[in-house]
Amino acid sequence: MPKKKPLEIVSSEVKVCTKCALSRTRTNAVPGVGKALARILFIGEAPGQSEDVKGEPFVGAAGQLLDSLLSEIGLSRKTVFITNIVKCRPPRNRPPSQREIAACTAYLDRQIIAIKPELTMTLGNFSSAYIFSKAGLPFTSITRVHGKSCEAIVLGVHTTLFSTFHPAAGLYSAQYREQLKKDFQTLKSKLASHSAN
Ligand code: URA
Ligand code: SF4
Repeated sequence: MPKKKPLEIVSSEVKVCTKCALSRTRTNAVPGVGKALARILFIGEAPGQSEDVKGEPFVGAAGQLLDSLLSEIGLSRKTVFITNIVKCRPPRNRPPSQREIAACTAYLDRQIIAIKPELTMTLGNFSSAYIFSKAGLPFTSITRVHGKSCEAIVLGVHTTLFSTFHPAAGLYSAQYREQLKKDFQTLKSKLASHSAN
């Protein structure tokens, strides 16, 4: 039998994980999708209802917005890797608790180490706060840091950190949607300057 790759091992462990109480209410755990050696890693918050049903991240309304933001800058979910800091749906889409985040992030950490993304794009407060703390950087709020990039070492991986609002915010506010579009354009120019180096 061919040897399983690190990302596949994480995926199969997540699918049967019972490390926190969310395992009792989920339909499917949502490990993440995309390319194994993606240049960009997107990290959201937690699966919602559609994701819980399909076992795939960002397949509901927020996911449609994410897909269109990606396609506007020439990317698709096949060329990047998309996951969340918490892999199972919190009941009624409440925010994940600190206990759930602490139980789950070991999986995200292993995904980061396996993918070694050149660029890490966090979506919203939860994933941004987590990744900033892993990088030893102070995090204030997404409103303050979105659209700005910085070089960081996360779990031994050199990566450019970049953050923006959660796509769900863009669903209920045109202002957030505009900010998301702008931040994705900035991401596009970052990628172009990376490629030129
Ligand atoms: N919101 C998230 O943060 N992640 C998903 O996968 C879907 C919606
Ligand atoms: Fe396991 Fe994470 Fe799901 Fe909790 S949220 S059961 S830690 S995969």
